[in-house]
Amino acid sequence: MEELLERLLEECRPAAKEGRVADYIPELAKGDPKALGLYIIGSEGKRSWAGDCRQTFTIQSIVKPILLLQALLDNGVEFVMRRVGVEATGKPFDAINSGDQSLDSGNINPMVNMGAIVMCSLIHGRSYDERFQRLLGLTRRLAGDQEIDVDEAVYRSEKSHGSKNRALAYLLKSHGLLDDDVEEVLDCYFRACSIQVDCRALAHIGAVLSNRGRLPVSNERIFPGAMSRYVNAILMTCGMYDGSGEFALRVGVPAKSGVGGGIMAVVPTRMGIGIFGPALDRKGNSVAGIKLLERLSGELHLSIF
Ligand code: GLN
Repeated sequence: MEELLERLLEECRPAAKEGRVADYIPELAKGDPKALGLYIIGSEGKRSWAGDCRQTFTIQSIVKPILLLQALLDNGVEFVMRRVGVEATGKPFDAINSGDQSLDSGNINPMVNMGAIVMCSLIHGRSYDERFQRLLGLTRRLAGDQEIDVDEAVYRSEKSHGSKNRALAYLLKSHGLLDDDVEEVLDCYFRACSIQVDCRALAHIGAVLSNRGRLPVSNERIFPGAMSRYVNAILMTCGMYDGSGEFALRVGVPAKSGVGGGIMAVVPTRMGIGIFGPALDRKGNSVAGIKLLERLSGELHLSIF
């Protein structure tokens, strides 16, 4: 397995040249575009890795499925479905997903920014700090790593360059879709995006989602199996934003990307995969990362279709 991973990684590394590191905030522009790493955790706990898999980066949008899980655990499926819909947007992650006149909860998907901002407001807690700490606690359990924390420099950069997210949040507020103070909700969102992870942590989160809510090896239950079906279905249809259809064809498994260069992939019943490759395509997805997953999917017959 290790040999196969090394070979695929070297084959896919040059693809990074076709992408660019995210530069919407100065702190992310410092990333090394040539980095590429991969970590796999199988359902029986077997681990394999290759390349720059211990390099750390911020989770960014890959926190969205964790936000969704926390919102589901706190409120149940029916309540969450009334506040954020499940239809794919086919639009970029920071897009306003419908015309101003038809902005309603059914048009908001939890895998894009607007939906994620609403989900921050659904997490239970007496303060936004407490809500964030609960989200961080769930992230640590899912990742199997109690040391995971916020990258403060990225957090400050997100907060001071967050005009587009502020625009999205105020629009939600003006349509009655966000009850709380916009700055408090956004502070939770910016901190959530700035959680620092590595490929191993993403593989572990993916493994729990592939294992119907149970930790690999110990089999300890973190969330009900029905919730993994809910989350994985939305990852399949919208996890790669407006690149989700092509990704379904090329790779064929539920996955979530982030502009930090990470991809978390879930192969139901088989494995969780964590990828890091910070050179992104125009949709904000890792170019070499997708290529690596495509090659891996072909070699190991991972597609669910
Ligand atoms: N922090 C980013 C944003 O809110 C997250 C988006 C992403 O990873 N695609 O714009």
